[in-house]
Amino acid sequence: MQQFKKFWASLDSLDDRIFFLTVTVSIVVSVIAYIADILQGLALEAQLAVLAIFFIMVLLFVLGLKYPAKRTIFRICLVITLNFILFPLSFFYSGGIQSGMILFYLTGLFLVPVMTRGKASIILFVLSIFMMIVTIEMAQYVPSIVVPMTLSQHYQDVKITLLIAGIGLYLITVLILGSYNQERIRNEKLMESLRNLSEKDALSGLYNRRELYRRLEIMYGKPEVSRRKNTLVCEDHYIAMFDIDDFKKINDTYGHGVGDAVLKAVANVLNEMVDLKNGELAARYGGEEFVCVLYAPSIDEAYRRVEEARLNVAALQFGKGFPSQITISGGVVSCTDTSNLTEIMKRVDALLYEAKANGKNRICRTDSE
Ligand code: GH3
Ligand code: MG
Ligand code: MG
Repeated sequence: MQQFKKFWASLDSLDDRIFFLTVTVSIVVSVIAYIADILQGLALEAQLAVLAIFFIMVLLFVLGLKYPAKRTIFRICLVITLNFILFPLSFFYSGGIQSGMILFYLTGLFLVPVMTRGKASIILFVLSIFMMIVTIEMAQYVPSIVVPMTLSQHYQDVKITLLIAGIGLYLITVLILGSYNQERIRNEKLMESLRNLSEKDALSGLYNRRELYRRLEIMYGKPEVSRRKNTLVCEDHYIAMFDIDDFKKINDTYGHGVGDAVLKAVANVLNEMVDLKNGELAARYGGEEFVCVLYAPSIDEAYRRVEEARLNVAALQFGKGFPSQITISGGVVSCTDTSNLTEIMKRVDALLYEAKANGKNRICRTDSE
């Protein structure tokens, strides 16, 4: 079981899984059918046909394992063997039109699109139907080629074939859908990690500058998008920009590793300040610069929250090997100060510059001049 699980996990393409699954199901089905044929006392030819299915399936399984690059060919061989040789032969050997083989015919048609792709699939499908109809015609017009069965044998045969074909189809469908589902989940995870990679900054975990601008551009390009957010209105948007004070000195004194840890800690404080669910966001704007978009009913409230974040950064405790205190400077502006994004970023940057010029570890606001 463990080995089977390992082998199954090593098959990373859906096509390969379906191939081995179908061959395995066919092997199991042929063994059951062989036993059933013997119990029913069917003609020796019918028993031999089922036995042939068994050996061909085992061969395809082994070849599939040995030559993974040739599995497309083996899949086509599988369909040809079933639909063009074994099912028609079994049809003649098990009583013709009244045999349960018609159910295997349907199973064979189902396997064509499962096993093959493109033109090969269309050609095999059309030829399979043609072949099956020809065998039925032959049974009707050349009845001597059909090995007859008694009525009770027919009843038994139909019941058993229905059971085998039904279980086979059920298993293949369940496993195809299961594999498809697994593949879908894997793709979703991949998409999620790609989205994260393209939107987030790896070190801080905050949104990156590109994503910040993408969102700001939507906000500024489509005022109706930002107009109402629950009870908040457009005038409630505020942009805050922060920069860690004397960060170069931290790097130079304590090393880049410590600098990175400080960056992460400041990013955490800013991330905690914003309410992501309400459309607020925190982004890493550059090296040790951050931008937050906030909703607040007034500039006073926005300033209060930004000031609180500054105090929270100043209160961070790092311990040995780290600076005793980290401080940040910042600026905060109302988005309605101007309807131009470039202009608003210039203004908040000027306020940050002002905070630095006035002694750092402070926040400047629009109306503080
Ligand atoms: P000010 O108080 O005026 O902001 O001075 P400062 O030293 O903080 O500013 P400056 O622009 O001189 O230096 C910023 C430094 O940030 C320089 C750069 O090496 C460092 N830096 C940028 N990105 C990273 C990073 O991802 N990790 C680390 N450890 N350092 C970084
Ligand atoms: Mg700095
Ligand atoms: Mg800077």
